[in-house]
Amino acid sequence: MTASDNEKRTEGWRTVELPENLVVEVEQLMKEKHEKRPVQVALGLFIGDLIRDSLKRAEVQEKYFSILEDYAVEPECIYIRDNNRDVIAELRFKDGTDLYCNIDGAKNCVHVGFAWSLPAVQKLLWDKSKNLNS
Ligand SMILES: [Zn+2]
Repeated sequence: MTASDNEKRTEGWRTVELPENLVVEVEQLMKEKHEKRPVQVALGLFIGDLIRDSLKRAEVQEKYFSILEDYAVEPECIYIRDNNRDVIAELRFKDGTDLYCNIDGAKNCVHVGFAWSLPAVQKLLWDKSKNLNS
Protein backbone atom coordinates (compact mmCIF):
# COMPACT_ATOMS: atom_id res chain seq x y z
CA MET A 1 0.00 0.00 0.00
CA THR A 2 1.40 3.38 -0.91
CA ALA A 3 0.98 6.63 0.94
CA SER A 4 -1.53 7.85 -1.62
CA ASP A 5 -3.77 4.84 -0.89
CA ASN A 6 -3.82 5.89 2.74
CA GLU A 7 -4.71 9.41 1.76
CA LYS A 8 -7.68 8.33 -0.31
CA ARG A 9 -10.71 10.16 0.99
CA THR A 10 -14.42 9.96 0.73
CA GLU A 11 -16.28 13.20 0.91
CA GLY A 12 -17.14 13.99 4.53
CA TRP A 13 -14.86 11.26 5.91
CA ARG A 14 -11.38 11.27 7.42
CA THR A 15 -9.03 8.34 7.70
CA VAL A 16 -7.50 7.50 11.07
CA GLU A 17 -5.17 4.69 12.04
CA LEU A 18 -6.16 2.39 14.86
CA PRO A 19 -4.13 -0.31 16.60
CA GLU A 20 -4.85 -3.63 14.90
CA ASN A 21 -5.75 -5.46 18.13
CA LEU A 22 -8.33 -2.77 18.91
CA VAL A 23 -9.93 -3.16 15.48
CA VAL A 24 -10.09 -6.93 16.00
CA GLU A 25 -11.80 -6.36 19.35
CA VAL A 26 -14.32 -3.95 17.79
CA GLU A 27 -15.03 -6.36 14.94
CA GLN A 28 -15.74 -9.06 17.51
CA LEU A 29 -18.12 -6.75 19.39
CA MET A 30 -19.84 -5.73 16.17
CA LYS A 31 -20.30 -9.38 15.22
CA GLU A 32 -21.93 -10.10 18.59
CA LYS A 33 -24.16 -7.03 18.43
CA HIS A 34 -25.27 -7.41 14.84
CA GLU A 35 -25.41 -11.15 14.55
CA LYS A 36 -29.19 -11.22 14.30
CA ARG A 37 -29.51 -8.19 12.05
CA PRO A 38 -30.01 -8.74 8.36
CA VAL A 39 -28.19 -5.57 7.32
CA GLN A 40 -24.46 -5.25 7.89
CA VAL A 41 -23.21 -1.97 9.30
CA ALA A 42 -19.92 -0.54 8.05
CA LEU A 43 -17.10 -0.85 10.58
CA GLY A 44 -16.41 2.89 10.37
CA LEU A 45 -20.01 3.74 11.27
CA PHE A 46 -20.00 1.25 14.13
CA ILE A 47 -16.79 2.70 15.58
CA GLY A 48 -18.18 6.20 15.06
CA ASP A 49 -21.25 5.31 17.16
CA LEU A 50 -19.05 3.93 19.93
CA ILE A 51 -16.96 7.08 19.99
CA ARG A 52 -20.04 9.30 19.99
CA ASP A 53 -21.40 7.36 22.98
CA SER A 54 -18.22 7.75 24.97
CA LEU A 55 -17.96 11.44 24.09
CA LYS A 56 -21.47 11.93 25.40
CA ARG A 57 -20.61 9.98 28.54
CA ALA A 58 -17.43 12.02 29.07
CA GLU A 59 -19.44 15.21 28.75
CA VAL A 60 -21.96 14.02 31.34
CA GLN A 61 -19.22 12.88 33.70
CA GLU A 62 -17.45 16.18 33.33
CA LYS A 63 -20.63 17.99 34.33
CA TYR A 64 -21.43 15.82 37.33
CA PHE A 65 -17.91 14.91 38.32
CA SER A 66 -17.80 17.45 41.11
CA ILE A 67 -20.96 16.03 42.67
CA LEU A 68 -20.56 12.27 42.30
CA GLU A 69 -17.37 10.23 41.87
CA ASP A 70 -16.76 6.52 41.60
CA TYR A 71 -14.75 5.90 44.71
CA ALA A 72 -14.23 2.16 44.45
CA VAL A 73 -15.85 -0.69 42.57
CA GLU A 74 -15.58 -4.05 44.30
CA PRO A 75 -17.31 -7.31 43.34
CA GLU A 76 -19.78 -7.10 46.26
CA CYS A 77 -19.92 -3.37 46.93
CA ILE A 78 -19.69 -0.14 44.94
CA TYR A 79 -18.64 3.01 46.72
CA ILE A 80 -19.83 6.34 45.33
CA ARG A 81 -18.43 9.55 46.74
CA ASP A 82 -21.13 12.23 47.08
CA ASN A 83 -19.40 15.60 47.40
CA ASN A 84 -22.72 17.40 47.70
CA ARG A 85 -23.68 15.61 50.92
CA ASP A 86 -20.07 14.80 51.84
CA VAL A 87 -20.69 11.08 52.27
CA ILE A 88 -19.65 7.87 50.60
CA ALA A 89 -22.63 5.78 49.56
CA GLU A 90 -22.25 2.03 49.78
CA LEU A 91 -24.19 0.22 47.10
CA ARG A 92 -24.67 -3.49 47.60
CA PHE A 93 -26.31 -6.07 45.41
CA LYS A 94 -29.79 -7.13 46.42
CA ASP A 95 -32.11 -9.58 44.67
CA GLY A 96 -29.52 -10.55 42.09
CA THR A 97 -28.37 -7.52 40.13
CA ASP A 98 -30.34 -4.74 41.85
CA LEU A 99 -28.20 -2.22 43.69
CA TYR A 100 -29.25 -0.97 47.11
CA CYS A 101 -27.91 2.31 48.54
CA ASN A 102 -27.25 2.35 52.27
CA ILE A 103 -27.60 6.09 52.84
CA ASP A 104 -30.86 6.54 50.94
CA GLY A 105 -32.26 3.12 51.75
CA ALA A 106 -33.34 2.90 48.13
CA LYS A 107 -32.67 1.16 44.86
CA ASN A 108 -33.37 4.18 42.68
CA CYS A 109 -31.42 7.10 44.16
CA VAL A 110 -28.87 9.25 42.29
CA HIS A 111 -26.00 7.07 43.50
CA VAL A 112 -27.48 3.94 42.00
CA GLY A 113 -28.21 5.83 38.78
CA PHE A 114 -24.66 7.09 38.65
CA ALA A 115 -23.26 3.62 39.39
CA TRP A 116 -25.23 2.18 36.46
CA SER A 117 -23.47 4.58 34.10
CA LEU A 118 -19.99 3.34 35.06
CA PRO A 119 -18.49 0.85 32.61
CA ALA A 120 -16.80 -1.06 35.48
CA VAL A 121 -20.21 -1.51 37.13
CA GLN A 122 -21.86 -2.54 33.88
CA LYS A 123 -19.21 -5.22 33.47
CA LEU A 124 -19.83 -6.38 37.05
CA LEU A 125 -23.58 -6.56 36.46
CA TRP A 126 -23.06 -8.40 33.22
CA ASP A 127 -20.81 -10.98 34.91
CA LYS A 128 -23.32 -11.33 37.75
CA SER A 129 -26.32 -11.82 35.50
CA LYS A 130 -24.39 -14.42 33.51
CA ASN A 131 -23.64 -16.30 36.73
CA LEU A 132 -27.28 -16.08 37.82
CA ASN A 133 -28.52 -17.53 34.56
CA SER A 134 -26.06 -20.38 34.41
ZN1 LIG B 1 -28.07 6.84 47.39
